[in-house]
Amino acid sequence: MRTIYSDVLCIGAGLAGERVALAAAMEGFHTICLSVVPPRRSHSSAAQGGMQAALGNAVMGKGDSTDIHFADTVKGSDWGCDQEVARIFADSAPIVMREMAHWGVPWNRVVAGKHTYYKGGKPFEAEEEESKHGLIHARAFGGTAKWRTCYTADGTGRSVLNTLDSKCLQYGVEIHDRMQAEALIHDGERCMGAIVRSLRDGELVAYIAKATLIATGGYGRIYRATTNAIICDGGGQICALNTGVVPLGNMEAIQFHPTGSVPTDILMTEGCRGDGGTLLDVNEYRFMPDYEPEKAELASRDVVSRRMTEHMRKGFGVKSPYGDHLWLDIRHLGEHHITTKLREIYDICTHFLGVNPIHQLIPVRPTQHYSMGGVRTDKDGHAYGLKGLFAAGEAACWDLHGFNRLGGNSLAETVVSGRYIGSKMVEYLKGSESVFKTEPVNDARKLVAKTIDDIISCRNGKENCFDLRNAMQDVMMDDVGIFRNAKDLQNGVDRLLELSERAKHIGLHGSVKGFTPELSMALRVPGMIKLALCTAYGALQRTESRGAHTREDFPARNDAEWLTRTLAYWKEGDSLPTLKYEDASPWFELPPGERGYGGGKIIPAEIPADKIKTKEQAEEAIK
Ligand SMILES: Cc1cc2nc3c(=O)[nH]c(=O)nc-3n(C[C@H](O)[C@H](O)[C@H](O)COP(=O)(O)OP(=O)(O)OC[C@H]3O[C@@H](n4cnc5c(N)ncnc54)[C@H](O)[C@@H]3O)c2cc1C
Repeated sequence: MRTIYSDVLCIGAGLAGERVALAAAMEGFHTICLSVVPPRRSHSSAAQGGMQAALGNAVMGKGDSTDIHFADTVKGSDWGCDQEVARIFADSAPIVMREMAHWGVPWNRVVAGKHTYYKGGKPFEAEEEESKHGLIHARAFGGTAKWRTCYTADGTGRSVLNTLDSKCLQYGVEIHDRMQAEALIHDGERCMGAIVRSLRDGELVAYIAKATLIATGGYGRIYRATTNAIICDGGGQICALNTGVVPLGNMEAIQFHPTGSVPTDILMTEGCRGDGGTLLDVNEYRFMPDYEPEKAELASRDVVSRRMTEHMRKGFGVKSPYGDHLWLDIRHLGEHHITTKLREIYDICTHFLGVNPIHQLIPVRPTQHYSMGGVRTDKDGHAYGLKGLFAAGEAACWDLHGFNRLGGNSLAETVVSGRYIGSKMVEYLKGSESVFKTEPVNDARKLVAKTIDDIISCRNGKENCFDLRNAMQDVMMDDVGIFRNAKDLQNGVDRLLELSERAKHIGLHGSVKGFTPELSMALRVPGMIKLALCTAYGALQRTESRGAHTREDFPARNDAEWLTRTLAYWKEGDSLPTLKYEDASPWFELPPGERGYGGGKIIPAEIPADKIKTKEQAEEAIK
């Protein structure tokens, strides 16, 4: 078997993978990024909206600070996040946005003078300051007290990814695309790289590295209706879970975006609502202010998605052959605004929906969008359980987002955490000796080769992997959606357990030469069902409502018992994950309280005095 050595192996070449790779390459470490697609086509490129950082340049962001950003993030997370991480993130986001500007990201800039902006569908005038002319601008995104979402027109993800990818080329990061990681190489204590399958010709290659990063994005494709790309299948999380020693954090924390389009599920960016778009029901009535008088359409995503679902359940949805939906109205923003600041929305609507948003309403409904859960790491990005393994970006549970991530915070997380975790990885590389053993490499390779052989030879049966994938997605939509309860969740777990059993008998139906999509799916489905089980079982056990996890049978946020993070381990031979729990945050700079939107009862916790820190103490502790 071909073996490729490097100092750093980044599994994933989206924003997070490339930012970590860059940090290592800039320090002279030989770094390789793997990707199943050319890096610039990673899912990060689909992000239109923007990245949060408290720059305070825009008039509507005046007075913003890292403290306000920190507070918005913690409230958004419904106190599920690690506050140490939220503090690191909020403090460094402005530095990172400026660094990205220095590298060439064409941020939209403040233009001094009077401008017409929108709030709740109503225009208002605001004057951008002369002294801020030419500085990085910001737009409104859900759940924030100030406008702080930096953007490049309607293509933020794309322009930031292109910039980073160019930077990686400049610093000699090797990109190996169409290469899919199938298993980690480890001895139960240390990670030494990964066994990787070429999607061109099916060759298995051992990548041996001193430090390995998982940055493979989210696992949205365990749901049928998702805004995620087809490559968001949780491959990295599966590799980590299959080690048996690396836990996944808060897998039940799944975000539904309020405005997935119907029927394609393509995202209508939050920028639509941020820029003044409104939500209308079957009677073209604007209903959100009735539920959320203060924030209306700009409450956090979990809240808006719930309110929309509630309203449709009351019979105010628009009937369609694809199920009920509501309307997104941006007509009042006018042609100029829509074809410039929301140009991609205009294109998506006209090309995919046959709708002209300048004159017509856009059909939308809540759709799976973001994976708050992922490979659990400490604040430096080290995965729990294995030395030399790191994780960053959406694949990780660094835990900036708790039970609901704020719009604009995840794109920012990729580069902010990527830079920070990259620097910690460099410290690790400089400070530790590397250990490579032949046995774990051979064991991992044999296991992957045998699995492939079993599937190709149909040794264990001929279950169709696409049928199993579709059935799993149906379970997740039916039983593990926005509103959850014990009966449905138990039903979901039972159905997934059956699918998991059937997945042991997958056999190939098509040809096996080189790369076949069926073989890729056949290899991925058993792991995807495991991720689905971690999500459903974690949701069943968490008997409270927090952020995006809403239990109809336990409607209160229960800080007394559930101010915790779920850790899901998968031991070999088990049919369900073993769940353990840890404190949500090592300390609280912002003790648990009201979010200010969403309503709902809170069962309070008694937080010991030594767990509460001032900002100064928090910053001192992070050092
Ligand atoms: C439609 C859409 C719009 C969004 N808009 C915004 C926004 O405006 N603002 C915001 O903050 N967030 C937004 N988000 C979220 C944000 O874009 C993502 O969270 C973020 O880009 C994830 O980046 P990443 O680097 O972690 O992963 P990705 O960009 O998904 O990259 C994953 C990488 O891993 C590779 N990979 C996957 N599996 C394997 C494997 N097994 N082996 C090898 N490589 C593998 C892929 O090829 C890819 O290179 C949006 C999300 C969606 C779905």
